[in-house]
Amino acid sequence: MAEVRLESIRKVYGALEILKDVNLDIKHGEFVVFVGPSGSGKSTLLRMIGGLEKITGGKLLIDNKVVNQLDAADRNLGMVFQSYALYPHMTVRENLAFPLRMAKLGRAQIAQKVEDAATLLQINHLLDRKPKQLSGGQRQRVAIGRAIVREPQVFLFDEPLSNLDTELRVQMRVQIAKLHRQLGNTMIYVTHDQVEAMTMADKIVVLKNGNVEQVGTPHDLYHNPASQFVAGFIGSPR
Ligand code: ADP
Ligand code: MG
Repeated sequence: MAEVRLESIRKVYGALEILKDVNLDIKHGEFVVFVGPSGSGKSTLLRMIGGLEKITGGKLLIDNKVVNQLDAADRNLGMVFQSYALYPHMTVRENLAFPLRMAKLGRAQIAQKVEDAATLLQINHLLDRKPKQLSGGQRQRVAIGRAIVREPQVFLFDEPLSNLDTELRVQMRVQIAKLHRQLGNTMIYVTHDQVEAMTMADKIVVLKNGNVEQVGTPHDLYHNPASQFVAGFIGSPR
């Protein structure tokens, strides 16, 4: 199980209130998309869930346990960001194995898990290459692979496809949706792209200036937008 609950979450940088009072319930296995214009607080919120950013106020619970003070490494999350951040000097195999080596798994177990992740993402043929020998889409698949090897209960994605060209982005959306069906875990996915949000989400969280403007299914948002802002944002072309 992996439920994520945000209770009155706030974030302040100096005098700036970046996130105001965010309340949110994410159920096990849900694919939740945070969407909103640039600067609305999506990344900050995701980074707080991931333990990469201090929470100013409120409570973050994972499986009913308050984790505000826990390090990123102790939350068992997989994270994939816009920049691929693969280790350039390591092969794909070594990149995938790295989180498992850190977790001190045995050699055979590491080899097996790397193999499984590679099969799932169809990157077996790339295992002996270095990142610079890969295309953008291949690198992003490896980055996703590295996030899943430890079988995290929750995945966090921050605009993972925004550096890819349109065609590849469409392919990767399909691949991530498939991954979600196969793993059945909880995914929290940040994008500023309405099409991505509308096509991928079970539940969409619309952020505006650090406030949650609306939470709903793509159908809810499309048919019953809570404000002009939501209607305009969801309805507008990219
Ligand atoms: P988004 O991901 O939706 O584009 P961010 O979460 O990155 O938005 O940023 C939300 C707001 O917080 C922006 O106004 C941004 O300038 C501000 N912000 C982000 N990180 C910092 C920081 N380290 N210090 C001060 N302000 C920040
Ligand atoms: Mg961002």
